[in-house]
Amino acid sequence: MTNLIFGARALPSLPIFDSAQRYEVRRVFCVGRNYAEHAAEMGNTVDGTAPFYFTKSPFAIVSDGGNFPYPPKTIDCHYEMEFVIAMGDDGIFGYAAGLDMTRRDLQWASKEKKRPWDTSKDFENSAIIGAITPTDKCPDITNQRICLRVNDVVKQDATLDQMIHSTQDIINDLASYYTLGAGDIIMTGTPAGVGSVQKGDTLHGHIDGLCDVITIVT
Ligand code: MN
Repeated sequence: MTNLIFGARALPSLPIFDSAQRYEVRRVFCVGRNYAEHAAEMGNTVDGTAPFYFTKSPFAIVSDGGNFPYPPKTIDCHYEMEFVIAMGDDGIFGYAAGLDMTRRDLQWASKEKKRPWDTSKDFENSAIIGAITPTDKCPDITNQRICLRVNDVVKQDATLDQMIHSTQDIINDLASYYTLGAGDIIMTGTPAGVGSVQKGDTLHGHIDGLCDVITIVT
């Protein structure tokens, strides 16, 4: 590929727990409204029949505890703590903890005008993901606790069995739209308790059995 005008550039990648290798990210899918209490706090009703999705560019990823620069064009940037699935070529490769950062004011505006969510969801540094734990190094995903502390105050606290659409349901449904494979990650939606971040905040996300995701808003 020596004829590329700007040269070959690597895809973003994520660390893998207990490994020197990294996981190259190809696509980032995100599930909307997957916890009833979060849907309610946003004034939405839940569609239990099937999940719905939006996407982020892989270049929106922050990994390895990198900082989160407060984004432009918003005065109401929110955290959303999420359980993340990392696909392999033969099903699930592993799981991680992640933050779906959201320019909430832009999202409200786009919803009101029935326009796409891209500028509210898919912006630089908006997908903050911790190290991936391969499935053979973590327990089955059942009712693990998922929580987020902001400056050591618990803001989101739920269990993964509260997801309306389960890990396998999401994969089955998403696979009917896309050919899923290695490098595809899925952010599975956030529990209740979302809120604004400010410069200087420390966000510390935890899911039992997985690696924490930690970032500082700068
Ligand atoms: Mn989300």
